[in-house]
Amino acid sequence: MMKKGLLTVISGASGTGKGTVCKKLLAELPEMFYSISATTRQPRTGEVDGKEYFFISVEQFKSWLAEEKFLEYAEVYGNFYGTPAHKIEERRNSGVDVLLEIDVQGALKVMDKCPDGVYIFLLPPSFDELCNRIKNRGTETPDVLQRRIESAKNEIALGKKYQYVVVNDTVDAAVAKIKAIITAERCKVSRNLDEIDIFS
Ligand code: 5GP
Repeated sequence: MMKKGLLTVISGASGTGKGTVCKKLLAELPEMFYSISATTRQPRTGEVDGKEYFFISVEQFKSWLAEEKFLEYAEVYGNFYGTPAHKIEERRNSGVDVLLEIDVQGALKVMDKCPDGVYIFLLPPSFDELCNRIKNRGTETPDVLQRRIESAKNEIALGKKYQYVVVNDTVDAAVAKIKAIITAERCKVSRNLDEIDIFS
């Protein structure tokens, strides 16, 4: 029987560098299928529809939601983000490993729906570094910044619900740790019962 592909979920508070880590991971593991989310936010310079995200309207998002096309969705800073469901199971059932990069609220929902997934929580190297990364991201007012830092702190407290925690001190080191986790998960007895049974 074909072995089901692994579902790896990389998550963490905003400002932890999830995007950069996932890009590097995919460059090193090109056989993984990256699940492209749909979002209602505007593309940033250089972002391409169908590559980083499917950039869709709020109306389109709501109609996909009504049609139950999302495995999970969340509102992050006023924009909607959702994980299209159908390709994930399809790929996994054909033996392909799938990677999701989603926020904490979304990951907690996927944990309920896909208990066989591998949930990795990315931590910023320090509190100061987290504040710097959030500040460098935008031109928001001190008020908004303060709110984002508070919300990041609350999200980090939810890290205890994950199976693995990786500190993103350098991208290379974080990617190496994630690759090690994926390798170990692929070797778990519970994922290889058929292989053992061949010999009985
Ligand atoms: P950005 O707009 O900076 O690309 O992403 C903002 C946040 O949304 C990040 O924390 C990112 O991980 C998260 N995100 C991206 N796609 C999804 C998704 O499909 N579902 C959820 N819940 N969060 C997502």
